[in-house]
Amino acid sequence: MKLQEVFDSYNDYIMPTYTKTPLVFVKGKGSKLWDIHNNVYLDFFPGWGVGSLGHCHPKVMQAVRDQISKLIFIPNSYYHISQAKLAKELIFWSYPGKVFFCNSGAEANEGAIKLSRKFGQAQLGSDTSSAIPASVGQGRYEIITFENSFHGRTLAALAATGQKKYQAGFEPLPEGFKTVKFNDIEEVKKALTDKTAAIMLELVQGEGGINVADKDFVLSLRKICDERKLLLIIDEVQTGIGRTGKSFCYQHYGIIPDIMTLAKALAGGLPVGVMVVKKDIADILGPGMHASTFGGGPVICKAALAVLRALQEEKLLANVKKTGDYLFLKLNALKDKYQVIKEVRGMGLMAGVELNIEGKGIVEECMKKRLLINCTHGKILRFMPALNITKREIDKAVGILDGILKDTDIHG
Ligand SMILES: *Cc1c(COP(=O)(O)O)cnc(C)c1O
Repeated sequence: MKLQEVFDSYNDYIMPTYTKTPLVFVKGKGSKLWDIHNNVYLDFFPGWGVGSLGHCHPKVMQAVRDQISKLIFIPNSYYHISQAKLAKELIFWSYPGKVFFCNSGAEANEGAIKLSRKFGQAQLGSDTSSAIPASVGQGRYEIITFENSFHGRTLAALAATGQKKYQAGFEPLPEGFKTVKFNDIEEVKKALTDKTAAIMLELVQGEGGINVADKDFVLSLRKICDERKLLLIIDEVQTGIGRTGKSFCYQHYGIIPDIMTLAKALAGGLPVGVMVVKKDIADILGPGMHASTFGGGPVICKAALAVLRALQEEKLLANVKKTGDYLFLKLNALKDKYQVIKEVRGMGLMAGVELNIEGKGIVEECMKKRLLINCTHGKILRFMPALNITKREIDKAVGILDGILKDTDIHG
């Protein structure tokens, strides 16, 4: 297919749900991507957070090749070895409990929401003497979420997402979600009722603009959840699997969630979702209550095991610390140099650069110079390079941005 034919086919046959960049990629390796004309791009936003090992990591490719030559799929009504191994590994890396496998971040969050409701329904509030069985509205079902959060596009995940622009036109959304201001514990306290079942948040809001949760805020949330017997759901779909310099971001905060959701980076580019549930609530969803046909298939589990092995063998958490510090040093140097940069923030290799101007033009200029980055919320440039990125690659990327900002500052 010629370039124009590709664009035409998308126009004619694919629903226009994505804002698209006119690049057609054919090959990837590490932090490099090749387009149809053989131009090479430096990818500082691989797969919107999926590409933590860069493109086509050899360990993932080998694992997938090995598995597809033996058995591609087996449903969850049977057993297979890789799912057992991956579950054990994830629990070993996180906290005592059990996991549920699905295929995406939104789906993992849907699972967390359903589990919270089941958990809340079992608690009939003060009237435990009632002989009437629990029915809708009698138990606890409300979930507190936060402004600028992002939890996915399915209806319940969308209701949990604290951004009106994504919800508009899809009402009525499932009930029972209350959105309050991020990092504001008083707002959370005001929103609590005897119907509250859970509090759900990202510790670094990704799509919402790289907003980092305050430590005190998170400790207070944990305390509130403990005191009122609520579930603390941490959405680590974007922050998980080493992105912030620890296996999971919650480990920076000295807390343990009741439910953690994972997806993006876990299977090296293959679709996966996981909900990791603390031991005491891990059996709430029993046989027949929740399911996902493709969840935790052999190919995905093998790929995820290869990702976890690569993280360890290649000492990537140490590399995130080293190169993350370096990236922030470089970005802060740009901030000192250019007035268009308002703030640099983030954690590990998850960096946001808030501008005083719209970021779209900058992203386009970067693309012309063969650097791929992202812009979220209009003015926030987002960098989430592969966890095996090098200082040289960071120098190159920041150098390109420097050149562009120089022109912008003069003209702006
Ligand atoms: C991307 C993302 C999701 C949604 O994941 P999908 O796989 O697109 O459904 C949910 N939560 C967070 C924090 C995300 O970054």
